[in-house]
Formats: sequence, structure tokens, C-alpha cells
Amino acid sequence: MSKKDAPNYRALKKDDDPSKTCSTCKAWDPNHAKATKPDTGYCEMYDFVCSGPKTCDAWTAKTENEGIYRIADILTEDPDIFMG
Ligand code: SF4
Repeated sequence: MSKKDAPNYRALKKDDDPSKTCSTCKAWDPNHAKATKPDTGYCEMYDFVCSGPKTCDAWTAKTENEGIYRIADILTEDPDIFMG
């Protein structure tokens, strides 16, 4: 994977949701060793250094997925928890 695989990677356009940028994406790692410039981070989904204010069509919410993973963890740990 590389930058060219990130679908429609771009600077925010007028119709884009300004809250959905690389810097708020689940794939964003601002502490990666390759992300040395300000406002950059490593895109773990497409393996390139991306710009925090930009976005792409694969943007993924952090909290949404983390919530799903947490429910999966709870069910794995204690499958009877929702059975009353
Ligand atoms: S929006 Fe997310 S998936 Fe897309 S390039 Fe940025 S960090 Fe990667």
C-alpha cells in the first residue's frame, strides 16, 4: 500500500466534513518515526506519511470502531453478560 492507494486523498473541499481529517482518523499515527514534519502522521491503513488537515474516502472514526472492538472484547471475556 502507498499514498496512491488512499482513495481520493486530498485537501478538504467545500463539501467535506471538516471534522473528518487524517488527524482524526483511526489510521493516523502522529508518533510514527517517519512523521517528522509538523501536522504529519503515518497512515497505518495505506502506509505513507499523510497530512493532518487532509482526508481521504477511507476515513474511519476512532470511537466508532473502538466501541465495536470493546463490545467484541466484552463478549469474548464474558459471553453471558447480555443474557441477564
Ligand atoms: S483519512 Fe485516514 S485512511 Fe485516509 S489517508 Fe488519512 S489517515 Fe489514511
